[in-house]
Amino acid sequence: MRSDAAPVHPVAIVGGGFSGVMTAVHLAAKGVPVALIDGTGRLGRGVAYSTREPVHLLNVVTAKMSAWPDKPDHFSQWCADDGLSFAERRAFGRYLGDQLAQADGVTPIEAMAVAAKRVGDGWLVTLSDGQQMEASALVLAQGNQPPTPFPGSAGLPEQLFINNPWSEAAHAAVERVAEEGSDVLILGTGLTMVDTVLSLAAAGHEGRITALSRRGLIPRPHVHPPRPPVPVSLDEVPHGNVIALWRWLRRRSAEVGFQAAVDALRPHTHAIWQQLGEREQRRFMRHARPWWDVHRHRIAPQVAEQLKDMIAAGQLEIVAGRVRRLEADSDQLRVAIARRDGREALREVGVAFNCTGPLGDLRRTADPLLRGLLEDGSVRTDAFAMGLDVDSRSRAGNGVWALGPLTKGRYWEIVAVPDIRHQAQAVAADIHEELVTHV
Ligand SMILES: Cc1cc2nc3c(=O)[nH]c(=O)nc-3n(C[C@H](O)[C@H](O)[C@H](O)COP(=O)(O)OP(=O)(O)OC[C@H]3O[C@@H](n4cnc5c(N)ncnc54)[C@H](O)[C@@H]3O)c2cc1C
Repeated sequence: MRSDAAPVHPVAIVGGGFSGVMTAVHLAAKGVPVALIDGTGRLGRGVAYSTREPVHLLNVVTAKMSAWPDKPDHFSQWCADDGLSFAERRAFGRYLGDQLAQADGVTPIEAMAVAAKRVGDGWLVTLSDGQQMEASALVLAQGNQPPTPFPGSAGLPEQLFINNPWSEAAHAAVERVAEEGSDVLILGTGLTMVDTVLSLAAAGHEGRITALSRRGLIPRPHVHPPRPPVPVSLDEVPHGNVIALWRWLRRRSAEVGFQAAVDALRPHTHAIWQQLGEREQRRFMRHARPWWDVHRHRIAPQVAEQLKDMIAAGQLEIVAGRVRRLEADSDQLRVAIARRDGREALREVGVAFNCTGPLGDLRRTADPLLRGLLEDGSVRTDAFAMGLDVDSRSRAGNGVWALGPLTKGRYWEIVAVPDIRHQAQAVAADIHEELVTHV
């Protein structure tokens, strides 16, 4: 079944964030025309870099944020800085947009991809506006999936409980509570919590903010200026056993500081993750992940200072515990918190934000394209259902590639620019080779 009216693009890339843009740019440089599909108004920037707020900074210095693996200074030169600053994320969005604008042969398509069916050797992709297109190769660069509804939040008024902290509704809620001065609850204490606190502060919010997570761990700051790296070879790192790895990391942290110890693992994280095997990977996720996340995904020193000041002033409280009950009471939300220390705490807040992170189980995705591809067996989830099962070339199935956070199961550390830029280059090279071989 061919649709003769459907335009043909050699490659259809779904998702216009960093992963999709850089794959498109690499393909265009090889002379392969691409359709880049994103219907969320974020085409060319994606979720992380479409923020409009100057207070949202990169959590990596500019020297490490080049979009190009073989031009490490590209972004710091673009910013005209010494490479040591933490630039605004919206500036990185402009930089990414520049890379796209300079590429020849990328057709941006402002629509959602809602289905893709295998037709002959290629794909028939259906868009949310009803249009269809044919493509020889399909690339899934859809980033993280939005969070599922927080347990116990069903039925709460939408203006009181914000389930997606990246939505316009979240932005409106920040403005509203800043004006009202009401208290706020943030569920989760990671990087998304940090963003939300910064947005509230920038909007002039003066109420009290309670940020809650099971352990109450918050991201650690980068040291500034950064300490010199203390590299290790992969052979020096214990492999295949989380406890041995952990002991090694603690010893090493005591010797060189945790920043240097964690950063030294960076070139080896894919190999270390794969050597662990599924059983040890599960152990890591259960026991070590919270520690790893806050030490590995750090924040700019000035952001850490601001949080420290807010905590000292009593405006921000970080609580270890869990939600026992959530109830709406006219224009307030009443929250009962079971603290980790056994005490119960009650809060009345003007809004709660779910900052517990993206959807953890891809089988529960609401995205119609992914659902369809999973249901007809074109792709399958990885062993943890964190993302898609891909091979060493990031192929998720016949004629379909995936990259970025969708490939966490295979690579674990594949959520930030310094990792994804290599993957985007490799995926583009693999698709090019595949297309050339089959012409
Ligand atoms: C808030 C935040 C801050 C970060 N800060 C940094 C940082 O400082 N440094 C760093 O290295 N990394 C950072 N990261 C991590 C990293 O850079 C991003 O996660 C990375 O850019 C992922 O890009 P992506 O293109 O895979 O996903 P995304 O940026 O999420 O882009 C995916 C796009 O696909 C679209 N899409 C999804 N489904 C469909 C569909 N069916 N049809 C059409 N479009 C679809 C989405 O709407 C989205 O626009 C940050 C991440 C976040 C969330």
